[in-house]
Amino acid sequence: MSSAVEEEKGTISIHTENIFPIIKKFLYSDHEIFLRELVSNAVDALQKLKRISAIGEYDGEIGEAKVEVKVDADAKTITISDNGIGMTAEEIKKYINQIAFSGASEFLEKYKGEDKGQIIGQFGLGFYSAFMVAREVEIDTLSWRPEATPARWVCDGSTEFSISAGSRTERGTTITLHIAEDSEEFLDSYKLREILSKYFKFIPTPIELDGERVNTGEPLWSKSPADLTDEDYKKFYRDLYPMSGDPLFWIHLNVDFPFNLTGILYFPKVDPKMEVQKDKIKLYSRQVFITDEVKDVVPEFLMLLHGIIDSPDIPLNVSRSFLQADGNVKKINSHITKKVADKLAELYRDDRDAYEQKWQDIGVFVKYGMLTEPKFNDRAKDFCLVRNTDGKFFNIEEYREKVRYNQTDKDDNLVWLYTSDADAQAVYIDAVKKRDYDVLVLDHVLDNHFAQHLERVAEKITVKRIDGDSPDKLIDKGTPELDLLTSEQKELAIATFKAALVNDKLDVKIENLSADDLPVTLTQSEQMRRMRDMYKAQGMADFFGSMDLTSVIVNANHPLVNQLVATEDEANRNVLAAQLYDLALLSQGKLTGKGLSEFVNRSLNFLGK
Ligand code: ADP
Repeated sequence: MSSAVEEEKGTISIHTENIFPIIKKFLYSDHEIFLRELVSNAVDALQKLKRISAIGEYDGEIGEAKVEVKVDADAKTITISDNGIGMTAEEIKKYINQIAFSGASEFLEKYKGEDKGQIIGQFGLGFYSAFMVAREVEIDTLSWRPEATPARWVCDGSTEFSISAGSRTERGTTITLHIAEDSEEFLDSYKLREILSKYFKFIPTPIELDGERVNTGEPLWSKSPADLTDEDYKKFYRDLYPMSGDPLFWIHLNVDFPFNLTGILYFPKVDPKMEVQKDKIKLYSRQVFITDEVKDVVPEFLMLLHGIIDSPDIPLNVSRSFLQADGNVKKINSHITKKVADKLAELYRDDRDAYEQKWQDIGVFVKYGMLTEPKFNDRAKDFCLVRNTDGKFFNIEEYREKVRYNQTDKDDNLVWLYTSDADAQAVYIDAVKKRDYDVLVLDHVLDNHFAQHLERVAEKITVKRIDGDSPDKLIDKGTPELDLLTSEQKELAIATFKAALVNDKLDVKIENLSADDLPVTLTQSEQMRRMRDMYKAQGMADFFGSMDLTSVIVNANHPLVNQLVATEDEANRNVLAAQLYDLALLSQGKLTGKGLSEFVNRSLNFLGK
């Protein structure tokens, strides 16, 4: 090693004629990764130097450790320099030439159609990603070893390389890329700055582009939570997501066994009317950005969160299917789920008022998590809240207790009533409140599924929307009914209403409701509505087509219905039926257009009499 490097030519030992066309082809969609790989290597070289210095193996100067990237548009070169450990000619041969790679064709076969951009690093080929953009690559390097002499390696993208004595006088490595014609876009320093900032914003090692430092971000997640204030977390959030408002709260992750994981997950404010934005979490490995596709690493329901996860233990360079099966990934997944459940339980326990105030936002995560993660569901039962029309919050057990006395049906089922829109369903709310029933507000898109989920996991609970049936039938207590009309009179009432309806396909029923309920109520079968909502949510063709699922319930015990069947004149009966039906529509805000103007005219006529 002490003698000067002898000129040598050789062949890069891989078991294929030419690896480079494969590399080019495989990384096609992600050419910018060359910069991530080469700068990462430079950072590694600096860190290795620090380490051997720390253990006393190296006692020379470390100097100002930094990576310098330079672009020369005229010469069409990009150089990446570091003052790290450097390499001897022997090391170049060992680390660069002998690519740990067997059977490129097998590799090609195996990863057909997979995530190509992520594969290459797994095979220790990071350095060779340079050939995605360069027609020729040079390494000029001088090892830290006291007796080392400079070495120079040149390769033009074929499997031929040459090693010779170099001229470098300072410790470290410079990689020079002679940019290929089809990659000249990378000779633009704005573009390079953007790429460098994307991948290296948070690493502490200074990275310069043409003399200017690119990375000034601080990797907050690598610090100890004890050293950080709320303002630090908020500021970091603003830096990451300048377009979002303040986060609700955050979770600082810090695990070192049985895997390594750090990170900060933020709960953003969510607008219930807006599509929730997924894919906001960024994945890092040792502070270097890897991807914002965290699917599989983070449980589905937590994809709504924002923030950063950093783990050297996630196999970033393998294909999707591999990732799903990876044991570490599974552990990370359930660890994150547990941490999130812990945090929510803590917030709930420590300050219930504040928790309730945030429920509008937190609720989405909690419900989504309960629907999709059985383990989370088990935990969340304690801190999942429901809100009633009076704006009061209850956890599931509390609510069970609240309605136990008055909302248990004859089969001992607890019936939970809800409205999906308190304004539009005000008439129904009034009707059930007359019976001293309580009404929950379940008005988020997820609530449809959540209601069914509750029925599945909570024993003896049935959840019904208040327009799912006539008020007495919603909770069938088996109490004997008042029955004022004969069966002939009931038939007459049904026939009259059928004749009066514009839509003669609607189902008309007569029921013994209470005298102070409305004369006519419109209901929609709970089951049918759920099915229709589900089809809609899944974007499937509506099984029911344009079919109207409304039932018209005529109250046999209402004085006006009694009056109707007692009316001799058929025309008068029809007018009264039409009027009562229109009032039912009107109370739901469903009377419009021609129907509305007919109603107004009819009413004026009435009043004139
Ligand atoms: P990996 O980084 O995954 O090991 P690479 O192909 O990127 O694979 O690099 C191969 C090896 O070459 C590195 O492990 C390192 O030993 C050496 N190397 C690459 N770049 C440098 C550098 N700038 N300084 C010192 N050694 C380097």
